[in-house]
Amino acid sequence: MGTINNSAPLDSGMERIFNGNRQWVERKREEDPEFFERRAKGQSPKYLYIGCSDSRVPANEISGTEPGEMFVHRNIANMVVHTDVNLLSVLQYAVEVLKVKHVIVVGHYGCGGVAAAMSDKQFGLIDNWLTNIKDVIRIHEEELHAIEDEEQRLRRLVELNVVEQVINLSKTSIIQNAMKDPEPPQLHGLVYDLREGILRDLHVQTKLIKRYEHIYGMQ
Ligand SMILES: [Zn+2]
Repeated sequence: MGTINNSAPLDSGMERIFNGNRQWVERKREEDPEFFERRAKGQSPKYLYIGCSDSRVPANEISGTEPGEMFVHRNIANMVVHTDVNLLSVLQYAVEVLKVKHVIVVGHYGCGGVAAAMSDKQFGLIDNWLTNIKDVIRIHEEELHAIEDEEQRLRRLVELNVVEQVINLSKTSIIQNAMKDPEPPQLHGLVYDLREGILRDLHVQTKLIKRYEHIYGMQ
């Protein structure tokens, strides 16, 4: 009673993970015999990626980057929330210690988190998180309201949400301090299309961020 049967076959779901891992190790070693040895020495990624937890948007794969190139933070709907100690810790470490050159917020069309925020349904604890996206709707209510087609409206909200998260980045003291550096990190807002696999730059203008400097700016 209560003992774990070690002779039981591996859960077939987990077999997928271990087999996949062994095959990946083999493939990597074939391509580059010192791949793992070099990675073990340390990391100096150029990019911080802030993306959605959605299983269809894997950071390294969609950007064609290798382990070691990208520091990654993912949460539901790629949010930059100022009370999120996890996000702030990742951001501070990436910017101040790793000295990443680019901080990239990546949203994606077909985002379930964004769609849930657009609806009036309750989903449980996550509703508190989704309120941050509802704030984006409030800020851009007029523009969103003018879009009749529901899918188009959702797509636009995905884009606007990315823009607002880039603005949220620029409000943090971490980014504001980093901007005083001779080579400050660049902030970017991108959107990923699940249907095509294409990443598109939303060209979030630093001018747009500057517009709010009189409110959020800190010396
Ligand atoms: Zn998503």
